[in-house]
Amino acid sequence: MNDIQPILDKVLEGGRISSDECRFLLESRDLAKIGAAADEIRRRKNPPDVVTYIIDRNINYTNVCNVVCTFCAFYRRPGKPDTYVHSIEEICKRIDETIALGGTGVLMQGGLHPDFDIEWYEDLLSTLHEKYPDFQLHCFSPPEIHNIHLISGLDYETILARLKKAGLNSMPGGGAEILDDEVRKRVSTKCTSQEWLDVMRAVHKVGLRSTATMMFGIGDDVGHRVGHLQKIRDLQDETGGFTAFIPWTFQRENTALGRKITEEPTGIDYLKMLAVSRLFLDNVQHIQASWLTQGLRLGQTALGFGADDMGSIMIEENVVSAAGANTDANEKELRYQIREAGYRPQQRDILYNYVDREVARSSVSAEVT
Ligand code: SF4
Repeated sequence: MNDIQPILDKVLEGGRISSDECRFLLESRDLAKIGAAADEIRRRKNPPDVVTYIIDRNINYTNVCNVVCTFCAFYRRPGKPDTYVHSIEEICKRIDETIALGGTGVLMQGGLHPDFDIEWYEDLLSTLHEKYPDFQLHCFSPPEIHNIHLISGLDYETILARLKKAGLNSMPGGGAEILDDEVRKRVSTKCTSQEWLDVMRAVHKVGLRSTATMMFGIGDDVGHRVGHLQKIRDLQDETGGFTAFIPWTFQRENTALGRKITEEPTGIDYLKMLAVSRLFLDNVQHIQASWLTQGLRLGQTALGFGADDMGSIMIEENVVSAAGANTDANEKELRYQIREAGYRPQQRDILYNYVDREVARSSVSAEVT
């Protein structure tokens, strides 16, 4: 078989494609056809004229990290002179600034600190939740939860139930990279694929929702990427807890792995991965364009390849910017890019509920149309 059309027809008729078919699409060079099918599915699944975005802030509460990931330019080993842990006052200052800009939440993640037990995280969340009861705390990632498990001895579900009680609203899907241990072990000493999935299962079991991510281009091949998508789809069949899927490419600058890797995924690879994700993940509602890693122009292009969401205006981001992604955007610029792609920009919160606010309305009238 060398024609992808029967596979695309199957999806367009409401069928589910197999991992072999997914692989076939990823190996195809017919990006335009794949993109058109992904765009059609995206228009059926989400309002066709709307592209959403969120105003939030990435706060990396510490750069101290107990494990080594060769693709990471952010972490510092415990005890090194340039380590930091943000105080509550520093975090509150950043949240105040985010609220002033119309933000609805914070994405807070950090390194795997060897000394922070569950009480540290509970204190952080409960202090913030008490001070900002309506502000969404979208925090931590499966490796951080696994780290708490190693320190506290508590199981994932108990940890997540306690963090939810302390104020956690949802969890970002970071730390997935490629969910294949052969690849992971080559580049990282963090949690295994199964542990990542088990944490997410527990997140959903305690009634929280999360995103799922994929970072490709770290020595993985098409088979590894297909396997990753299959694991996400299987868990979503079981729990229904993923709000969105966000693929992006490895950012190599200042990383040990970046000095070794000779071939990086191209813009075409990114768009194809995004479009195939939309086609394969028939049970995930939102696919997010990662303009932060791909640049605003490719992020905008992604809106025609299955993405219905532009992610965050990213007031502060330290992890991927440390690895070379220095794209910056404010709300007005992001809305302009969305509008120029032919959609109506719509602010949302972390759970994809629309946010209606005066500032957003007045910025619409100020936009170039
Ligand atoms: S990616 Fe996360 S877990 Fe890995 S070294 Fe960086 S901070 Fe630590």
